[in-house]
Amino acid sequence: MKIGVLAIQGDFAEHILILKRLGVETAEVRLPYHLDGLDGLIIPGGESTTIGKLSVDFGLLEPLREFGKTHTIWGTCAGAIFLSKDARRSQPLLGIMDITVERNAFGRQVDSFEADLVIPELVEGSPYHAIFIRAPIIESVQGDARVMSTLPDGRIVAARQGKLLATSFHPELTQDTRFHQYFLSLAK
Ligand code: GLN
Repeated sequence: MKIGVLAIQGDFAEHILILKRLGVETAEVRLPYHLDGLDGLIIPGGESTTIGKLSVDFGLLEPLREFGKTHTIWGTCAGAIFLSKDARRSQPLLGIMDITVERNAFGRQVDSFEADLVIPELVEGSPYHAIFIRAPIIESVQGDARVMSTLPDGRIVAARQGKLLATSFHPELTQDTRFHQYFLSLAK
């Protein structure tokens, strides 16, 4: 199994470290041909406008959309925004996941927070400790996209549509590898 991490901006190095810890071969994706031979892709957190603009510059938009038709892609935070059909403002998006997101929905950087989530798909049942950094919320899911987890107040923070995954939070910044393992099970 070989997993790519979009490595043009954001915390791609942290995702690669976790994947390596799980014994997975990894590749940094910066150009379209880097997608060749991959079984799945992670789009990291960072700044979604920057990730979008650089993806346009590097000719990645269409290749990434094509890749997502047949492969697992997981977007964390900015990556989730980039996957979405609608971020309520004009910026380059892949637009391949039927979710509407609201950027910076919890406020500014200083309003970042951590929360324990219930995520039924993760094999062991204990709460999943999630880190939110100037995070988006997933305002709504459409089509066959499904809610995977919400905050206690009902706001959606994780969703899945077939092989596409979106999380508002950053599993790559914790020691808990369950979410990465779940992603790998989809990429198989
Ligand atoms: N605020 C960023 C954005 O809107 C996302 C932050 C993050 O990825 N931690 O793109």
